[in-house]
Amino acid sequence: MADILECPHCHGRIIPTAANLCPGCGKDVADLAEIRKSEIRDIIWNRIVAEQRKGRRFIALQSEMTGWPFPRGEIEMVQQEYEQHLAIFRHETVMRLVLPGTGALLLGIGITACFLFGPLGFGGVHIVADGLMFYGLLSLMVGLMRWHRAC
Ligand SMILES: [Zn+2]
Repeated sequence: MADILECPHCHGRIIPTAANLCPGCGKDVADLAEIRKSEIRDIIWNRIVAEQRKGRRFIALQSEMTGWPFPRGEIEMVQQEYEQHLAIFRHETVMRLVLPGTGALLLGIGITACFLFGPLGFGGVHIVADGLMFYGLLSLMVGLMRWHRAC
């Protein structure tokens, strides 16, 4: 009768299989080398996050990271994962803020141009155009700031 224990990988309360694997995550509950690696990666990842919070850019950080006191392989693995993470973040920033912001800004400018120089002389149109330009400019600025932080 096997004891219930906490899996060192996924931290679930589990009964290991006959092959000593966690039924939750499938990893060897006795594989301490693997744990140490994942802990090292967490430490490296957290250090990158901390540096980014201080305003350091990941591009500038990458060359200096190879001098950090961790195994080279773990550093390179975290660098790749972090770069993918940033790429997804940049993509989301473009899709949710930069593109809609730019679209709204251009539409607002277009409507304003029609209002000033064209036949659309209605007050309501003016309010809509102001709203679009305000929303567009704000989204664009927030998006560009997020983009800059994710480089
Ligand atoms: Zn597990």
